[in-house]
Amino acid sequence: MAAGALERALGDIVGARDVLRGADVCAPFEHDWTGRFGARARCVVRPADTAQVAAVLRACRAARVAVVPQGGNTGLVGGGVPRGGEVVLSLRRMAALGEVDATTGQLDVGAGVTLAALQAAARAAGWAAGVDLAARDGATVGGMVATDAGGHQALRHGTVRARVAGLEAVLADGSVVDRRSGLMKDNAGYDLPALLVGSEGTLGVVTHVRWRLVPALDARVTALVGLASLEEAAALLGVLRRRLPSLESAEFVLEPGLRLVLEHLRLPPPSPVPAPVRVLVECAAAHDPTDELAAALAAAGARDVVVGVDRPDRERLWRLREAHAEAIAAQGVPLKIDVGVPLGRLAEFAAAVPGLVAACEPSAQAILFGHLGDGNVHVNVVGADPADERIDEAVLRLAASLGGTVSAEHGVGVAKARWLALARSDADLAAMRAVKAALDPAGILNPGVVLET
Ligand SMILES: Cc1cc2nc3c(=O)[nH]c(=O)nc-3n(C[C@H](O)[C@H](O)[C@H](O)COP(=O)(O)OP(=O)(O)OC[C@H]3O[C@@H](n4cnc5c(N)ncnc54)[C@H](O)[C@@H]3O)c2cc1C
Repeated sequence: MAAGALERALGDIVGARDVLRGADVCAPFEHDWTGRFGARARCVVRPADTAQVAAVLRACRAARVAVVPQGGNTGLVGGGVPRGGEVVLSLRRMAALGEVDATTGQLDVGAGVTLAALQAAARAAGWAAGVDLAARDGATVGGMVATDAGGHQALRHGTVRARVAGLEAVLADGSVVDRRSGLMKDNAGYDLPALLVGSEGTLGVVTHVRWRLVPALDARVTALVGLASLEEAAALLGVLRRRLPSLESAEFVLEPGLRLVLEHLRLPPPSPVPAPVRVLVECAAAHDPTDELAAALAAAGARDVVVGVDRPDRERLWRLREAHAEAIAAQGVPLKIDVGVPLGRLAEFAAAVPGLVAACEPSAQAILFGHLGDGNVHVNVVGADPADERIDEAVLRLAASLGGTVSAEHGVGVAKARWLALARSDADLAAMRAVKAALDPAGILNPGVVLET
């Protein structure tokens, strides 16, 4: 198709106003949140409904032009931004929220609905979304399903996969698969929604999701516990898990990251007692869980504890964890590496990372924090060239050698496609390639993401 012809065809589908071409209007869609990934797109197209998404995919396939699906563009592995010359398919206009079904606790959500909007709708109906991330104001339901996002409530409710009662998606040839009956039991054939969860825009474009809510538990208590080591943190978690049915989150931060956050936010230390490791714990229940948390912390021998019961106090404690990303970004473009490690090897992993980073770039600093309950560590490296993949490789090899994974919750994207074989067998990879070839034989959906081209 001649230059401009595809854009005209896309304009006929979505309306010329929703095909963006200028460098200034396309810029917010072309680079990722960290500034590490991105390039110029051929154009950005913004469909309003499923039929338009299907027609856009058919037009791009006919023109043999690759498509990068994009939600809120808060992804951290370069999977939602162009590598150069693709059509960016932004789902943000598909932001309709259905009614909550009071009997099943399910609702239909457009792919472009933000997590914050979903949380508000759930709350208004007396339920909760069952997922929370610091990127809640930008991250969309389509993006969270496509990455099988985790977040700090995964400890209790599982990753986004557990919230998906069904979905509608458009495949690369423009056909629409719709599995939104919401039936609790339906094993009539292959589970296509399960295949699309975590497929990072490479197998289909998620257009609607049948979302499974969880009960709203408004009695909450948060505690920040100072500890001497990550071994102590893992032992503490074991006690909390065993004793606290109300346990919802268990996050960890280390002293260098907390120091950066305190400087960034101009705050005093949360406790007068210095501690190399701090664990942020939140319990949620129908009735005040403060006493049961206090008893469990006492049983675990925790001494340095700061407690937040009222919402402002709890939010102050959470800010110390959630502001890590912005405090790190304020230092320059970071290298962000998300891995999963068995809890019993977490201390070993954290001890080895600074040396590996220093061996690649002596002036760089590694800042580690993450979701303790899931053994999910975010390694952030500041002061290194973000294009220097030696650091990614060293950290990913370490995680894999300890029995961990190269991606816990952010996805593979383009950032880790080279190293997927560290976490998946040859047979796994061959099956994944076969699925990709069957569903997208022309290879137009997000090429280079998850599987190297
Ligand atoms: C401050 C901060 C905190 C974060 N915390 C967490 C966290 O705790 N846990 C966590 O899991 N992640 C976290 N993230 C990462 C990010 O928010 C998640 O990966 C989120 O799921 C991305 O959603 P999005 O709508 O922004 O997707 P995008 O960034 O737009 O896209 C991400 C991937 O999904 C694909 N995609 C997007 N929409 C669709 C669709 N409709 N159909 C098919 N494919 C699609 C894209 O092609 C891309 O591969 C954080 C990010 C930031 C910036």
